[in-house]
Formats: sequence, C-alpha cells, structure tokens
Amino acid sequence: MKTLKIAIQKSGRLNEKSVEILKNCGLSFENYKSSLISSVSNFPLEILFLRDDDIPEYVQDGIADLGIVGENVITEAGAQVTYLQKLGFGKCTLKIAVPNNSTVSEISDLEGLAIATSYPVILEKYLQENNVNAQIRTISGSVEIGPGLGLSDAICDIVSTGGTLKSNGLKPFAEVMQSEAVLIGREGSEFNPEVLELLQRIKSVLKAKATKYVVLNVARENLEKVVSLLPGVKSPTIVPLFEEGWVALHSVIAEQDFWEKINALKVAGAEGIVVMPIEKIII
Ligand code: ATP
Ligand code: MG
Repeated sequence: MKTLKIAIQKSGRLNEKSVEILKNCGLSFENYKSSLISSVSNFPLEILFLRDDDIPEYVQDGIADLGIVGENVITEAGAQVTYLQKLGFGKCTLKIAVPNNSTVSEISDLEGLAIATSYPVILEKYLQENNVNAQIRTISGSVEIGPGLGLSDAICDIVSTGGTLKSNGLKPFAEVMQSEAVLIGREGSEFNPEVLELLQRIKSVLKAKATKYVVLNVARENLEKVVSLLPGVKSPTIVPLFEEGWVALHSVIAEQDFWEKINALKVAGAEGIVVMPIEKIII
C-alpha cells in the first residue's frame, strides 16, 4: 500500500484544528515538536508540518499528496490543486478597509489610491474585475498599520472578528473573498483508494460534528407533535417508559438549528431532554 503524505500547518491558526480532525479520524501520531514529519502508526500516512504558504505548491508539485490550508492561501499562490473537502474551520474574509475618517465608500473611490496588502494576486484580480486602477503595496505582515504610517490609503487584509481593524482605526467597506480551511489534493487524487478512505473518514467526522444526538421523554398524546418537529429524521426510535402512556424518543438534530428546535420541542411537550455529541456518522 502506498504511503500518502499530508501537509498541515506547523503552528498558527490552522494547526490545532487540522491535528484535531486527523485525530478524530482515528489516526494515531505524534504532534509536531521538532521533527518536520510524523508517521501515522495505524494508516499509511505521513504528516508534514509546514508553513501554510508552502502547502499549495507542495501539493501541486506532488511532494505531498494532500494538504490542509486556507482557500485564501491557495488562491494567492495560484496553485493547480483539487478541492476535496471544505473543513468548516479557519473561516475569515479578505476585506478592503480604510481609516475611519476616509471619504472612500465605494470601490470606484479607490481609483489612484495606494492599498497595502499581503494578497497582491487576489487584490489585483479584484481591482481588475471592478475596473479600478490602484497602486498595490505588497507587505508581508502588519498590513493594518499601513495607513497610520502613511504607506497606503487603504488596506486589503484578512478579517475574522474585525477587532484588529477597529483597534487600528480602520473600517471595512468591501469584501474581496471568503475563505475557510480546505482539504486539497492533486488532480485525480480523489480516485486514489487511500485518499478516498481518508476522505470518507473526514466526512463522517464533519457530519457527526454538525449533528447532535437527542433523547427526550414525551407523553404519547404529544408524540406526533414532537416528531413533526424533527423532519430531518426518517423515523425516530421510540422506547416505552415504565410509566404508562410515556415514551422516550431518540433522534438526531442539526447543530445549527439546535436552540430553536429544543425550545419548540419543549413547547410541544418534550421533557427531560438530553443532548449528546456524536463522534462519527458512517453512511
Ligand atoms: P505560517 O507561519 O504558517 O505562515 P501565518 O502567520 O501565515 O502562518 P496564520 O495567522 O496562522 O498564518 O493563519 C493561517 C490561516 O488562518 C490564514 O491563511 C487564514 O486562512 C486563516 N484565518 C482565519 N482567521 C484569521 C484571522 N483573523 N487572521 C488571519 N488568518 C486567519
Ligand atoms: Mg503564512
């Protein structure tokens, strides 16, 4: 069996969640300490710990078979890779921001201005699409101090909460790109049996994470009302309780409408609601 290589971030915002998802897939390995490569003892896989900027090219050039990296980094690198799965973490948006007192309020106002960014390729394409000629000043980090230093009139940078912009007296006004961490491979790698096996495991873990297991008690006369609130489930499991006229219902619900559902279930007569995390869902 061929040993695959997967490249993940060595340290930084994506490292912890990348390691977590692989561990949740049942893979057993040592996390990054000083060695760049870690072998998985129970799957034909080696993990390469790299700087995130290097991951798209490593996968494109076949040094790694798979990688976990932000879409922003892949697009900026212009790497030819295949997106295998969005992973639901590392979510952020590339935005253009200007000082609070700036008169710039729409994209066309950027004409002739200087914009500082670490994402010149993505920004250039965005400006072209919007027919704006601006001067791109590429800097590798701390872009948000650009306007304060007189280096630029605006910035184009990654925003997740907006706190960094705010504390630097900047306000965002245009969204250039949304991004999250994705699993990437080389073109055609989705047909490799080991890749497929790993991909199936990752999908099971993601699906389990997005759902909760619910057990609740309900009087038989309210059962239909409660079941009608769980449309996603084909047929919930019903177990009679010792107390006459009562049943326990077992079901799964989506994490995203969790609170809304729980409240509606209570109103419909559900009692003793227990919600549990699900580790894996195999389909
Ligand atoms: P490396 O040392 O690996 O090059 P880095 O400093 O370039 O790390 P991090 O700051 O760890 O990168 O961010 C990694 C990725 O996390 C980003 O490319 C982006 O996809 C995602 N991300 C999510 N939220 C944020 C945020 N608030 N700021 C920056 N990146 C974010
Ligand atoms: Mg980086």
